[in-house]
Amino acid sequence: MTHSKMRLIVASNNSNKLREFHEILGERFDIVSMHEAGIDADIEENGTTFEENALIKANYVMNACHCAAIADDSGLEVDALGGAPGIYSARYCGRHGDDDANNALLLRNFFNTKAKAFVPHAVNQIVDVPGVIVPVVVRSGHAPIVCRGTCEGEILTEGRGNGGFGYDPLFLCETGKTFAEISPEVKNAISHRKRGIEAVLHALEAEQ
Ligand code: IMP
Repeated sequence: MTHSKMRLIVASNNSNKLREFHEILGERFDIVSMHEAGIDADIEENGTTFEENALIKANYVMNACHCAAIADDSGLEVDALGGAPGIYSARYCGRHGDDDANNALLLRNFFNTKAKAFVPHAVNQIVDVPGVIVPVVVRSGHAPIVCRGTCEGEILTEGRGNGGFGYDPLFLCETGKTFAEISPEVKNAISHRKRGIEAVLHALEAEQ
């Protein structure tokens, strides 16, 4: 007997995230975008935590199409900046999704904060930082599944690489390369997104 895949609508308009959800979950689930599900909405993320924002997005989509939904809220938490940009990662510079301006502001704020400790002419001064993701799955009649995935890395003072999205060019991961320099396969094997989604899968499997 063949089992059809469970359908999960991804509550995001971010095409890069959608691609990564497809790459990581596509074999196990029927991954459908908001666009494919006929939802044309810019969901306001007015929560105060990653978890609240992820649930706002997932619940919106579940209620709009009466189907299970998956969402994540994710970003960088830089210790030296008191956890910033955190939930504001996508709109750190004041405009949503302006990756270049977000990266530039991150470096500017970091240099200002660390000004005394910073070696003026070093081009690769680095700082430990985790990428964080809080993925959630919501289904009618079930309690939401809320997980967390992190990936430790360092922030470079200059971007490297052309792949990925967001802060990827500045995020030096355990491979010794930035997320923007490695292939999607390698990023999807080690990223915060992969780790968070794996935790979601374990939670779903534990129910069966
Ligand atoms: P969200 O859509 O509010 O969750 O926005 C998350 C933001 O965090 C993105 O727009 C990026 O700036 C950043 N971000 C999240 N995941 C990644 C990643 O895998 N690489 C680089 N930046 C990321």
